Amino acid sequence: MLAQKLSNKAYQVVLLDKNNYHMFQPLLYQVATAALSPSAVSFPLRRLFHKTDNVIFRMAVVREIDKSAKTILTNLGTLTYDMLVLSQGANTNYFGNQNIKKFCAPMKTTSEALYIRNKIISNYERAVNIANPGERKPIMNVVIVGGGATGVELAGSIAELRNNVLPKDYPQLSFENMRVILIEASGSLLNGLTQKSREKALEYLQKLGVEVMLNTMVEDYDGFVVKLKEKDPIETLTLLWAAGIKANSLIGVEEDQMAPNGRLLVDEFNCLKGEKDIYVLGDQCLQVEEKFPKGHPQVAQVAIQQSKNLAKNLLGDLKQKPWKPFRYNDLGSMATVGKKMAVVDLPFVSFQGFFAWFVWLFVHLMAILGVKNKLMVFITWAWKYLSFDPSLRLLIRPRYVKDFKRQWMLEEKDYED
Ligand SMILES: Cc1cc2nc3c(=O)[nH]c(=O)nc-3n(C[C@H](O)[C@H](O)[C@H](O)COP(=O)(O)OP(=O)(O)OC[C@H]3O[C@@H](n4cnc5c(N)ncnc54)[C@H](O)[C@@H]3O)c2cc1C
Repeated sequence: MLAQKLSNKAYQVVLLDKNNYHMFQPLLYQVATAALSPSAVSFPLRRLFHKTDNVIFRMAVVREIDKSAKTILTNLGTLTYDMLVLSQGANTNYFGNQNIKKFCAPMKTTSEALYIRNKIISNYERAVNIANPGERKPIMNVVIVGGGATGVELAGSIAELRNNVLPKDYPQLSFENMRVILIEASGSLLNGLTQKSREKALEYLQKLGVEVMLNTMVEDYDGFVVKLKEKDPIETLTLLWAAGIKANSLIGVEEDQMAPNGRLLVDEFNCLKGEKDIYVLGDQCLQVEEKFPKGHPQVAQVAIQQSKNLAKNLLGDLKQKPWKPFRYNDLGSMATVGKKMAVVDLPFVSFQGFFAWFVWLFVHLMAILGVKNKLMVFITWAWKYLSFDPSLRLLIRPRYVKDFKRQWMLEEKDYED
């Protein structure tokens, strides 16, 4: 957004990203459940800057910053900057549990969403060959951890697959045996939304047959059994982790420039604490406002509005205009549970049900980058609405790459690993 706003202006912009596309994360769960193709929710970054000579894009992993030398270190080499803007987003938070990190499936990126799609489909391709129903159950069960919007949307979408699609694909399997379980540590789903919306979301999920376990803590997972605090364990090969996020980090940032949760502390202009020429936007930063004493929620609107504010300030700077502090305008929150079932909380009104679902569809369609993507998503949704048969249940597996060829593969790799 910032690079777009500075396009064809008097700044030279170097945009670095470890992927060569922008991901629309709110719809990743539809990639994971075979409802949308990855290309429908991803947009090539280079295409955004076809007619903008002042913006250069490089696909690069930023690893380190040297503030005194004003350089950043990337896998491609070192780059000098006059002004640095960090907006590296957030990654999955496993709260220090290495087993969960090892065996669960997170969903922060398009690749991870595709992995989940492949995992779910391979489970049934496998289960259909197993005669003993007892042995089949752990393969068929899906457990989702985290009752925020991502967990709720994933659970609803997987339950719809189970109720309407999978029984037609695998008539030999009894899908009454497939449990879709949503686990949440607190006493409510969608914390932060109104009481009415939270209750409705729970009701919708139960209507779809999702087993919602509130006040439930996951203690451990070994790839087969989910251990719960003071409750019976659950057998599953598929544990989807939507329980938390943590800001991405960078070597070279001082301890005192970070909040305990890893978010980088910025002032009202998004300038990193103690610095003059480093700015941080979106999920990666923590900015305190009177109305948000603990910082803003890590949602898309904050990132968008912060980047627009910084762009305005940078452009105003060229004309010696004073900088304006950032003020977050909360436009509301929404989540969809399934067909015709969504909850919407706007600043002055809250509504649920069919109209909320329609508003959810419209808002998300408008937010997707690119006219072709909007059209693709619209047609896919219309088709799914009429037929209830998402057609993307393809098991396209990544090809095994021999070790000596790996250096040529641009694998998605967790920077921390
Ligand atoms: C599954 C899911 C569903 C969501 N649903 C909603 C929703 O419904 N509504 C809502 O408002 N918000 C939602 N969010 C949150 C929203 O997507 C984020 O708040 C928003 O994307 C934050 O924008 P950002 O620019 O800070 O980070 P991001 O959009 O995450 O962008 C960070 C970019 O930095 C790149 N990057 C990271 N590390 C490096 C590195 N070391 N080197 C180079 N590049 C790097 C990444 O590739 C990425 O392109 C959702 C998030 C997820 C994961």
